Amino acid sequence: MLTQLRDIVDHVAKAESLDDALALLVKNTRHSMHTECCSVYLMSNDNLRLELMATEGLKAKPKTVSLGIDEGLVGLVARSCEPLNLANASVHPSYKYIPSIAEYKFNSFLATPIIYRRQNLGVLVVQQKEKRQFTEVEESFLVTLSAQLAVILAHAKAHESWSTQLQPQSIEQKQFKGISASNGVAIAPLWFDDAQPRIESILPSSCLDTEQEQDRLGTAVELALKDFRRAKKRFEQELNTETLAIFDLFTHLLNDPMLKGDLKKQINQGDSAEWALRQVIESYAGRFEKMSDSYLSERANDVRELGQRLLYFLNYEGKLELDLAHPVILVTTQLTASMLASVPQDKLKAVISLEGAANSHAAILSRALGIPAIMGVEFNPTHYHQNLAIVDGYSGALYIKPTEALIQEYTELQNEELALSELITQDLDKPTFTRDEHQMKIYLNAGLSADTSIAVNQGVDGVGLYRTEIPFLLQQRFPSEEEQYLQYKTILETYPKKPVIMRTLDIGGDKPLPYLPIEEENPFLGWRGIRFTLDHPDIFLLQLKAMVRANIGNGNLSIMLPMISGLPELKQARKLINQAYEEVLGESEGDFSQPRIGMMIEVPSMLYLLPRVVGLVDFISVGTNDLTQYLLAVDRNNARVSHVYESYHPAVLLALKQIIDTANQYKLPVSVCGELAGDPIGCLLLLGLGYQSLSMNTSNVAKVKYIIRQVSQQEVEQLVATLLHHDDAEQILTDMIGFFEEKDLSGFIRAGR
Ligand code: PEP
Ligand code: MG
Repeated sequence: MLTQLRDIVDHVAKAESLDDALALLVKNTRHSMHTECCSVYLMSNDNLRLELMATEGLKAKPKTVSLGIDEGLVGLVARSCEPLNLANASVHPSYKYIPSIAEYKFNSFLATPIIYRRQNLGVLVVQQKEKRQFTEVEESFLVTLSAQLAVILAHAKAHESWSTQLQPQSIEQKQFKGISASNGVAIAPLWFDDAQPRIESILPSSCLDTEQEQDRLGTAVELALKDFRRAKKRFEQELNTETLAIFDLFTHLLNDPMLKGDLKKQINQGDSAEWALRQVIESYAGRFEKMSDSYLSERANDVRELGQRLLYFLNYEGKLELDLAHPVILVTTQLTASMLASVPQDKLKAVISLEGAANSHAAILSRALGIPAIMGVEFNPTHYHQNLAIVDGYSGALYIKPTEALIQEYTELQNEELALSELITQDLDKPTFTRDEHQMKIYLNAGLSADTSIAVNQGVDGVGLYRTEIPFLLQQRFPSEEEQYLQYKTILETYPKKPVIMRTLDIGGDKPLPYLPIEEENPFLGWRGIRFTLDHPDIFLLQLKAMVRANIGNGNLSIMLPMISGLPELKQARKLINQAYEEVLGESEGDFSQPRIGMMIEVPSMLYLLPRVVGLVDFISVGTNDLTQYLLAVDRNNARVSHVYESYHPAVLLALKQIIDTANQYKLPVSVCGELAGDPIGCLLLLGLGYQSLSMNTSNVAKVKYIIRQVSQQEVEQLVATLLHHDDAEQILTDMIGFFEEKDLSGFIRAGR
């Protein structure tokens, strides 16, 4: 069975056109299932009709018959999204006799819907003269076949690799969907840049003169270093240092003796510079890729980007920038930060990446540059090079050859956007009060870069979350106490007199260190965060001492513990913090102060134990990213279940309410540092629940401050009180959209067009 199934799917996937593919499908399926008839129907674009696309056994010619979605047994299968297995089809109440098909001779009928990600693409049917129920094995064969066929059909449709009558190639407007990576809208011609050689297409090759090859590589490294310095300088005026850190990361990697040594070794073995580069880069990227934390695994792309850039300079002939006459929407296979840097800013309206996710450095950079970006768009760019297009960075939509009406609509949106961005940067450095004078403190999330310094951001009250794991991941070994001390000191000094909350190492099963691999079945439920550091007091104490030392003379340090799931962990961690403090006190001189100690609320167990942490911590901060993951039992990195990961889920809101109520009752300072805090809707939900302190990424600060200033705490509180009674996230979202419209704030939530 399995071999037959694989054979059918292989044949279908290799067909040159959709018609050929479907003809092969019905022929092979009929043969494999020993039936007398097999047919396939595909859904029309408006989802109202099913067209007979191929048949072996029916009288009708393909594409001459179509059924309404409410007609016959085929319509019933499409509507019900369920297989139908009948011994005698003609007695079923939904049976409809269609003369042109002449199926009266067939009695038994088995059909399955062809469904891809909840979307019904069509129906696959087998029929037989003999009055018999198809067996369970036959039924499951057809269901499995349909599921595999659905993937091929959906992919072919997205890439337009097969033309069909249902989706005619025409001059009509085309629409594709991707992941929104940077908000904003743009209207311009598409520019598909695929001219550079790709590192993954380098084939094994050797060299005769290793010295010459070493020289070529040396020159390429020098040129690349110069280029990164140039790019950094160019962006310095516009970007914060956090984002610019990508260029520092590249420089850091290029100066890394280990990387250089590995490249040299490879060339000395007789490989060409290009082939040596590919092998070394792939091995480095592989180490990052193995990490299941999305942010860290995406660093593999940074390493590849570095390789790509070096490859470019190995073949460099003196031309650095794309020569564009007009502003364009840049389309790339894999968007990279250097690619963004190589296009003059006045020529870049938006970017589209066929691959990649919203957390890559390139996505972060495009957000910081204010360039709309969508990632993971499935379409064939070679068909549309230089065609006019619209990018909607809010919803992730791409419209090619847009209609006049759509251009008009988006031009108006662009004008509104311009006015909005001027508006939100006003009074950025002032504190944030609601209309009824409730203050919301705004803090920064930092640390997701290799840079030792972080952005001096206008208008923030301090750092609400400094993630310390990146330096641990970028090295070949644990960073020394001195290395950590210097880094933490720079950060504390960047925010004099403002609190800086440093989180202790949140590493483990999901973020394995390259030099300490951890193999686990269930990494998110495994050895991570405080579980790892308590098992390694050596590493933990080193970090704590570095933090305490860095605080001498600064006095603005708070230490936060991640992934606490019970009180013993908290008590043990506190003990180690005290030990570190006492040790530093005995060893050093200066202006000492005890750091405040806090914990993240990420594991649902702590909701029940919250009253008991009073006295053990000075503050708490809610990590909604993980709290949502654990509360809803949904992997935060798994695209297949991303629709289940609902930030506005009623259970998430109820948990957040319980946390704030308990914290208020016990006068425990509380903040939120998950992504919800920097989300336009999320920040109001949190305000309405009573939170007075939010921590977010740089790009959200101005927006959130502006939104909060437009509302009164009282009205939002009333609204949120009603939302807590809703049964699903959809209803909550709908009401919030209504509120944003009422307040003239819909410009901030244009998603979902
Ligand atoms: C969180 O879980 O919400 C959080 C802020 O931590 P991280 O995203 O680093 O896991
Ligand atoms: Mg977390």
